[in-house]
Amino acid sequence: MKKHTVMYGTLTAIALCLPLIGTAQASPEHPVIGFSIDDLRVERWTRDREYFTAAAKELGAEVVVTSADANEQKQVNQVEDMIAKKVDAIVIVPMNSQIFASVIDEAHDAGIKVLSYDRLILNADEDAYISFDNERVGFMQAEAVLKAKPEGNYYLLGGAPTDNNAKLLREGQMKALQGAIDAGKIKVIGDQWVPEWSPTNALSIMENALTAAQNKIDAVVASNDGTAGGAIQALAAQGLAGKVPISGQDADLAAIKRVIDGTQTVTVYKPLNLIATEAAKLTVKLIKGEKVEYQTQLDNGQKKVDSILLTPIALTKDNVMKVVEDGFYTKDQVEGK
Ligand code: BGC
Repeated sequence: MKKHTVMYGTLTAIALCLPLIGTAQASPEHPVIGFSIDDLRVERWTRDREYFTAAAKELGAEVVVTSADANEQKQVNQVEDMIAKKVDAIVIVPMNSQIFASVIDEAHDAGIKVLSYDRLILNADEDAYISFDNERVGFMQAEAVLKAKPEGNYYLLGGAPTDNNAKLLREGQMKALQGAIDAGKIKVIGDQWVPEWSPTNALSIMENALTAAQNKIDAVVASNDGTAGGAIQALAAQGLAGKVPISGQDADLAAIKRVIDGTQTVTVYKPLNLIATEAAKLTVKLIKGEKVEYQTQLDNGQKKVDSILLTPIALTKDNVMKVVEDGFYTKDQVEGK
């Protein structure tokens, strides 16, 4: 009889343990987070990956990262795979802001939280959004170019048409430029969106724009450093690099060097360690059902998404060394040693 009791107790203990063993890899105590990145070929995202993974580890979470190489179907498949693997949360940098509604519903059905990272997912039911204030980024880009070139012909080089940020950046850029346009000081002689934010696409768009305008472009508002790099290559081929003010964002190492050389007017620096760390904290809180302080809500077409928007910093020749002070780069990296 005694033996039976012991047996029963042991079996109960084993039975109770089983569900715990089954979910040991993904649980509120040791969460697993899927980080679905659009395109790791763009310099900044590799840093987001490193910072996010490290911050999550500090919080006891493991991160599984995928890159879709700017292929929207590949990204949907990767997210579906994460759902199948029963991660606790999925953090998405969407290639195409418009296509995640049903995948997010699938994730929710499986009890998985979903966050929009840096780019807002539109017309869908994500749980939260964290980014920098993208309209402010756009404003800073155009403001710095306008300061360098208050009059003349402007060309607007937008981001990827599939990225909601590209639209927000343009809104901010137009807010900065509208007064000068209305006053007849500047004239926007062309604008284009750059598919996939590709520097190669930006190069050929800028070549064509220069040809069409017979090189009479006085300033370029470019939406990130990668595309600015392509555009500056086209300007350089016409002997115009350094003469035509141009913006960017991300504080890519090549862009920081161009700001120092004077071939790029401004880059908008977004401390990536900050967004990644805040995003990791936010994700773990959502998994654990803890209260989160949001700053604002952004309308994604379907709902008002609880959002955290961080503050970007414009860097021109005067303050570009902030990236070294911040530990974003070493002095040797910036000086090319
Ligand atoms: C991001 C930029 C980035 C661009 C291209 C945008 O959504 O906000 O930081 O340069 O995508 O990847």
